[in-house]
Amino acid sequence: MLSPALPESCDVLVVGAGPAGSACASKLAGAGLDVLLVDAQAFPRDKVCGDGLIPDAHAALRGLGVYDEVMALARHVAHVRCVAPRGGAVSVPGTLAVLPRRQLDDLLCRAERRAGARFEAPVRFEAPLLDGERVVGARLKAGGAAHEVRARWVVLATGAVPQALINAGLCERRTPSGVALRGYVKNAAMVGHIDQLELVWHPRLKGGYGWIFPAPDGVFNIGTGLTGSHVTGRDGRGSMQDVNLRRMFDAFCDVYAPARELMAGGTLVGELKGAPLRCSLLGARWSRPGMLVTGEAAGSTYAFSGEGIGKAMETGILAAEALRQGLDDDAGVRAHYDTALRALAPRFALYEKAAHVNERPWLADLVIWRARKSPRILRRMSGVLEETQNPGRLLSWRGIGKLMFE
Ligand SMILES: Cc1cc2nc3c(=O)[nH]c(=O)nc-3n(C[C@H](O)[C@H](O)[C@H](O)COP(=O)(O)OP(=O)(O)OC[C@H]3O[C@@H](n4cnc5c(N)ncnc54)[C@H](O)[C@@H]3O)c2cc1C
Repeated sequence: MLSPALPESCDVLVVGAGPAGSACASKLAGAGLDVLLVDAQAFPRDKVCGDGLIPDAHAALRGLGVYDEVMALARHVAHVRCVAPRGGAVSVPGTLAVLPRRQLDDLLCRAERRAGARFEAPVRFEAPLLDGERVVGARLKAGGAAHEVRARWVVLATGAVPQALINAGLCERRTPSGVALRGYVKNAAMVGHIDQLELVWHPRLKGGYGWIFPAPDGVFNIGTGLTGSHVTGRDGRGSMQDVNLRRMFDAFCDVYAPARELMAGGTLVGELKGAPLRCSLLGARWSRPGMLVTGEAAGSTYAFSGEGIGKAMETGILAAEALRQGLDDDAGVRAHYDTALRALAPRFALYEKAAHVNERPWLADLVIWRARKSPRILRRMSGVLEETQNPGRLLSWRGIGKLMFE
């Protein structure tokens, strides 16, 4: 059965209208392809996130031609303030901003429609349509009814919830790489006091960190997150039973006075909400004939910091570039995409290693203490943030060891 709004066929069906899906659909429609983008949720929709736009996101937004539009709405920020367990802090300069995902994703999705793609929501991807082993479209659900849409390619950009990946036969690990919880707090009195992206490490937040990000209109995004073996277990399979993010959030407010003040004097807007993360380009196969996986579904979020908006857009654009090689060349498209993601993999691997700072918060004391004394190290930290410098020189054990002797 076909909904009046859903076509029978298209060149590319993109599933998921987060940053990855919208970026991919925009680029494909801009190249003249017939693109249908669908999302399980009606837009605008909320997405549990810290809403921080780091330099890679700025670059991707420019590449999509929406930078000025986003920055006209966003809260501009000039530094990341890293706070160590013993209270030492360093402000790392960077090109940064904060915009709630409800607004950002809606804006990206509207840009995708301007580029010529169609968008339908709420429409859920249920399963791929197959011709032998090749994906030739998808079974979708909209308004309680099932619909089949044939497509020359399907792109899965369904984020960190693995159900669509499982249904598509591409999930290699159901457990997320991380989990995080965030809330919005309105507190006009704190506006002049917290004007950087604040990241806080502490033994009571071991395995992750706490953050406060200043959003527009006197609102702050505050949260805590965990990655690594605390979530996946030592064997990598793990269960989420022992993860209590609410307790971690309370610990953050106990150990960090600005978090306590923000919560005590502010008004919580909505609830505290948690969500999974999929990191380090792990946990899923990136393609099968007729289908590519992109964004966080492909693990495009950084393990150390949990940041992923920029890399979601970047991988979505890479998927579009691979498809533009020629939709009829299955092997060519898959090889092109595989090569592009592999080129990013070393950077993700270094961020995975850097997560040892989350495991051993005393390392944050050391790095921040050294950065406060050395403008060169501070510049290097800024270079890693801006992605103009290889993170290996700073984030690896070797890099940390060298810090001691420079
Ligand atoms: C608490 C928290 C804080 C974070 N903070 C930051 C931060 O400050 N900065 C940063 O850069 N990153 C942050 N991240 C990571 C960031 O949220 C993700 O990297 C990013 O959202 C990934 O984008 P995406 O487009 O791949 O997926 P998503 O943004 O998750 O979009 C996926 C879309 O797919 C849709 N979908 C899912 N399944 C289906 C289906 N079956 N059918 C149809 N549609 C479907 C969903 O409705 C959704 O709209 C944070 C994550 C969490 C959990």
